[in-house]
Amino acid sequence: MASRDFQQRLQKALQNPSLRGALERFADSYVVSREQVFAGRDFQALRERIAAIKADAAGRYEELAREFARQVTERGGKVFFASSAAAARDYILKVAQEHRVTEIVKSKSFATEEIHLNEHLEGHGIRCFETDLAEWILQLMPGERPSHMVMPAIHLPKEEVARVFSNYLGEPVEPDIKNMVRIARRELRERFLRAGLGISGANIAVAETGTVIICTNEGNGRLATTVPPVHIAVFGYEKLVPRMMDVVPILEALPRSGTAQPITSYVTMITGPVPVERDGREGPKEFHVVLLDNGRLKMAADPVFKEALQCIRCAACTNVCPVFQLVSGQVYGFIYSGGIGSILTAFFNSLADAADPQSLCIGCRRCAEVCPAHVNIPDLVLRLRERVVKEQGLPLSYRAALRGVVAHPGRMYTLVKAASRLQGPLSRGQPFIRRLPFFDNFTRGRSLPALAREPLRDRARRLAPPPERPRLRAAFYSGCVIDFMYPEIGEAIFALLREAGAEIVFPAGQGCCGAPASYAGDPDTTLHLARLNIASLEGAGADVVVTACPTCAVALKYDYPRLLGRDEVWSRRAQSLAAKVKDFTELVGELGPLPRLQGEAEAAVKVTYHDSCHYKRHLHLDQVAREVLREQAGVELVEMAESERCCGFGGSYTLKYPEISRALLERKLRRIQETGAKVVATDCPGCLIQLRGGLDQKGSPIRVMHTAEVLYRAGFKAERVE
Ligand code: SF4
Ligand code: SF4
Repeated sequence: MASRDFQQRLQKALQNPSLRGALERFADSYVVSREQVFAGRDFQALRERIAAIKADAAGRYEELAREFARQVTERGGKVFFASSAAAARDYILKVAQEHRVTEIVKSKSFATEEIHLNEHLEGHGIRCFETDLAEWILQLMPGERPSHMVMPAIHLPKEEVARVFSNYLGEPVEPDIKNMVRIARRELRERFLRAGLGISGANIAVAETGTVIICTNEGNGRLATTVPPVHIAVFGYEKLVPRMMDVVPILEALPRSGTAQPITSYVTMITGPVPVERDGREGPKEFHVVLLDNGRLKMAADPVFKEALQCIRCAACTNVCPVFQLVSGQVYGFIYSGGIGSILTAFFNSLADAADPQSLCIGCRRCAEVCPAHVNIPDLVLRLRERVVKEQGLPLSYRAALRGVVAHPGRMYTLVKAASRLQGPLSRGQPFIRRLPFFDNFTRGRSLPALAREPLRDRARRLAPPPERPRLRAAFYSGCVIDFMYPEIGEAIFALLREAGAEIVFPAGQGCCGAPASYAGDPDTTLHLARLNIASLEGAGADVVVTACPTCAVALKYDYPRLLGRDEVWSRRAQSLAAKVKDFTELVGELGPLPRLQGEAEAAVKVTYHDSCHYKRHLHLDQVAREVLREQAGVELVEMAESERCCGFGGSYTLKYPEISRALLERKLRRIQETGAKVVATDCPGCLIQLRGGLDQKGSPIRVMHTAEVLYRAGFKAERVE
């Protein structure tokens, strides 16, 4: 259960249309600009290089820190190794007090936000002035939180900023951006000249030279690090790289990924104390580095989470995250936001602090596609969820559902059968439940599917006899949605594969693939189901195991071998099953034109295709599906804008965060309607639940079909897909 604070922040953000509008506008233009700015570059090679450099550094932080410190000290600077936030704060306060500093200017420092430096110094009578424009605006608005890691005030319209400036100056300020920038420059220039100490962060720190590198667009970083007589650079161990040449790929990727710029306006490299002129005399200024641990060394020693230290804080992952675009960085509650932010929060703050933020991830994997440091954010979020659950336990409702029912196929079957008989008053004979008494939030904006009266596993007992000399023997793994909600998809698949000359069987002992348990942070239940399904599918003696659900395919192909990797016997069995698993549409593509489908192009209708997240980003079959639809079903495929954007299903996510799920669905439905298509095809039964339910509540005649159904209707039955 999410904390009350978190829920309040979430509701506030979801009810703020200007916040959402600003983030969505930025995100839309970002996607296009990012593509342009990376055009002609080998993004995969670039990110592999960055990942290798950063992973190597994470493996020897202490050695690099020693070398970095030696270089800085030799040049006359001082390095303080701060094990904790408190140690870092105390050191900075000591330096400030030694110099009788009363005013400090700051630029570009996440680390100082992480350690709550401003509050600490102000408690000792020292005022800190943020000099990054957006940070300064937020500082003038007590209680306001940053909404984005790179553009913290992106949510504020210019009229709001003008109001803030007017209050600050005590005179009216017009909402004119150029004029407001001029005002900020004038006000801040004064601060730079008066400050006794400048504090910065760092984007990169080079061990072999002791160089601190700062990338900025406003030039304030240079002023903060050069004008005051003392400079303290505060940053974490993860900024360390071994050599100067390692800086090149990071500088190539960072601005391109963050703001879609080829390079930031200023790249400042500071190697030792810079010369400074005071009272007509020139001399070196005092230069300190606070190298912050605060959980980083523990993270670097963690075999799973050390990967997150590869992050170069570009915020590309949040720029493309559909959930972040709805809720903004303000909801996460800590300086680091988005999926990566929740992972960092777990180590830099505490696991308990990361519990709510991590739960916002719907697992769409969009972030992993664009991360220039090759961090597999969605998988790390799942591993984090497991640790949260281990520490806090599974909520009672999840435990009852997952361990009491889902883990036992027999019990699940009995319960679902009983529910399908009792659902009459809710479904009223329709394929949908349009209103759930007492839980109407779950059916607001989207109808739920009614349960099938006869699950696929029962229907499968009446399978037609196999062809005389089958081309192959296939075992069908249905997954829960096809089995209990949409058995007709399974029947279409049986019919199509038989037409293609395959023998198809339905192994009766199969159960849920375990993905719902994995997404809830309960790998033990997944492990139990993995063994059960492996045994059941092995028993079928099939050449190929066919699924028509990408989530199930990912579980069978990737999750089972990972979960069972330490058990020699089960690991072998899991790998042998994984090698046989094929998605239905992929198999159809490989089998070639189905006999009765040839020459059926006249059945063409306008179909649009929705990419399910796992199908596209995990199985990489999005183009295969399009080819099969065009060439085998003979349909006219019209692309929708943002076809790859998450529909908002995410299994139990729809129940946990119905407002977010609904908002994602709304956008998807708009995109579908814009195409003018009569049919939406997709390869994911979960997306079918979401899209069918959404279109049903809109009273839309657009039909949502699994690719197998489109194929079946377009050709096998020689019916028009209308
Ligand atoms: S995880 Fe990747 S995309 Fe996200 S901020 Fe870090 S480097 Fe950028
Ligand atoms: S997987 Fe999707 S929802 Fe989760 S952090 Fe990445 S982009 Fe956001």
